[in-house]
Amino acid sequence: MLQSSGMNTKTKIVVTIGPACDCETCIADMIEAGASIFRFNTKHNSLKWHSSRIARVRRAAKKVGVPVAILLDLRGSELRVGTFKSGQLNLESGETVWLRPQDYKSDYKQIIVKDLNLVKGVKQGAAVYLDDGFLKLRVTQVSLPQGIQASVIEGGILKDNKSINFPGAKVDLPSLVKRDLEFLSMPAKQDIDFVGHSFVRSKADILALRKVLSKQNLKVAIVAKIENRQAIDNFEEILAAADAIMVARGDLGVEIALQEVPFYQKMIIQRCREEAKPVIVATQMLESMITKPRPTRAETSDVANAVYDATDALMLSGETAAGKFPIKTVQVMNTIADFSEQKRIVKKVECQGRNLTEVISFSALKVLNNRYFAVKRPRSFVIFTDTGLTVRFLSSLRPTIPIFAITDDKKVRDQLCLSYGVVPFYHQFPQGQIRSTKYALQFLKQKKQLQTGDRVILIYGKQWGVPGGTNTIRVEEIQ
Ligand code: PEP
Repeated sequence: MLQSSGMNTKTKIVVTIGPACDCETCIADMIEAGASIFRFNTKHNSLKWHSSRIARVRRAAKKVGVPVAILLDLRGSELRVGTFKSGQLNLESGETVWLRPQDYKSDYKQIIVKDLNLVKGVKQGAAVYLDDGFLKLRVTQVSLPQGIQASVIEGGILKDNKSINFPGAKVDLPSLVKRDLEFLSMPAKQDIDFVGHSFVRSKADILALRKVLSKQNLKVAIVAKIENRQAIDNFEEILAAADAIMVARGDLGVEIALQEVPFYQKMIIQRCREEAKPVIVATQMLESMITKPRPTRAETSDVANAVYDATDALMLSGETAAGKFPIKTVQVMNTIADFSEQKRIVKKVECQGRNLTEVISFSALKVLNNRYFAVKRPRSFVIFTDTGLTVRFLSSLRPTIPIFAITDDKKVRDQLCLSYGVVPFYHQFPQGQIRSTKYALQFLKQKKQLQTGDRVILIYGKQWGVPGGTNTIRVEEIQ
């Protein structure tokens, strides 16, 4: 046994924090059940609310004794409707409504969209979606700057501040809004490992965020959320600029045709693996568990298929933030992932010979798969890492044994929580012993990760401490 059973699964689980898991015990239980990344959705709640919960996650992880990562999900250039006098508006199918940048005297029902004039390219006949696509309008007249007239196609109750999407149109908002900048300078900022960039449109958006992070002196990795057509069109440059990717299927399934989403999910996962960048599949994975203790067959297949696609991580949103069964949902997701990992045959990625680190990672996997080891298979890889780069290359190959990554940088350790199959550790070797693999193996033995007689594949650099200097593969048996 590696750690507790929930943590043995190699596919990582991201959980979203909300009122349904608003206590330390609940967080600890979710960690035990297999959650290793905690997502804070800044679209909801105050800065103070998030700060106190981030501290709580850190406390719970310390008690459980495993590292976790914090993902701060920014709002970005997302559009939302305003508020209504009674907190909601009933939209009847067939009726006419007006989308307005501000209140107008009118006999028609009005929906205020503050930044409506920044939406470019809306045409008569185009679809408009509200509340994650549950309500649909059809544009009948574009009369900006006054507003956009539309007919209700699929009606229902629209509540305050719900999302609004104009598929195919461009939103001329800056990629980071005032609220995002406030979150990036909050006191808990040093605790953030990943920042989720919502509605990324191009490489320029990623670079703008990187500039803000570097001004704040933050070593935070950027997760680009792919959630509209522009992000799909510019995916290659976004992938090159970002540190990780999220297939944000909620908005993506509204901004592009639903049937396109599974295709892009597969394509994005494969490209992320080829570039050794972690990838998260998000939204509605176990949606029915918000209210029920068991998932549907289709949801079970969805989670399993994301694992068969070989994603790094699976994400829970409303299921853990607002659902009735947050811990059970993590357990269910973990169980599906665990079984599917064991059954699947992973699609290969080719070694492109980009650097020695990549060559060493591919070679280490070849060593593992050599028939010489058929009788006694190595139990794990053990890697010394400064930046996590070698670890991410090896992880992208989705090996069948765990990767124990040892680093003396706590941020690198926590960021490696997102990478498939990686069990990261922080350790500062005593002066003079830093190149000794013996101490690393003893350390892992003390941590009960390895036992006498276990065979491991060690990967390290002759000059430990030099990023990119990994050049050695060694097979050892634990004494
Ligand atoms: C999504 O759209 O799938 C998503 C994760 O984004 P958010 O929940 O932040 O809207």
